[in-house]
Amino acid sequence: MILHWIINPGLAINELIFGQRIPKVSLVNKTLDKPRRERSFTPCPHCETLHDSRTWSTENGTAFKNWFGLYCPTCGNIIPCLTNALSFVILALTYPIRVWFIDRAKERWLAKQPQRFRNIEAEEVPDPFNNENWLKTALGWAVIMFVMMGIVFPYFYGDEITVHSLLFTLMMCTVGGLLFGYSMKLFNSKHPSELHDNG
Ligand SMILES: [Zn+2]
Repeated sequence: MILHWIINPGLAINELIFGQRIPKVSLVNKTLDKPRRERSFTPCPHCETLHDSRTWSTENGTAFKNWFGLYCPTCGNIIPCLTNALSFVILALTYPIRVWFIDRAKERWLAKQPQRFRNIEAEEVPDPFNNENWLKTALGWAVIMFVMMGIVFPYFYGDEITVHSLLFTLMMCTVGGLLFGYSMKLFNSKHPSELHDNG
């Protein structure tokens, strides 16, 4: 997952535009009988608090806008994050421009963080890939991909949109969505041995 975050150039958009970040260090409790998301923890190197990984989640409204890193609600410092390779190049190239306002932007961003993390309820966050949720998540992803690949991209590239092309894209997106959702369900689930025991 770490390697994927660094080498996939598409993720530069998640990082630079949406402010989605992945911490450099993630810990997984292998003894807990819970989905991966519920046994993942992010340590803060400043105050040594072990944060539930769901502290930064869409459900809490904190998954995005983390341009300067993951804010630690305990000590107010920033938890170091990975940088995508393409983001790194873009950040390096724009440094001569950014240098003029980056410190003030960071100060303003930091001032807004305590408010955002005031009512974090990590335990209440449902797992989007657990039980039957994975099917809903997979089909939701398929619909978004279908609209992008079947309609939006061809429209902007001037490609012809036909019933045939729509059906083909719909089929590819459904298969892709199901594969993605099911593999995430397996990845997020309990230990492989326990999966085996449960059938
Ligand atoms: Zn901290």
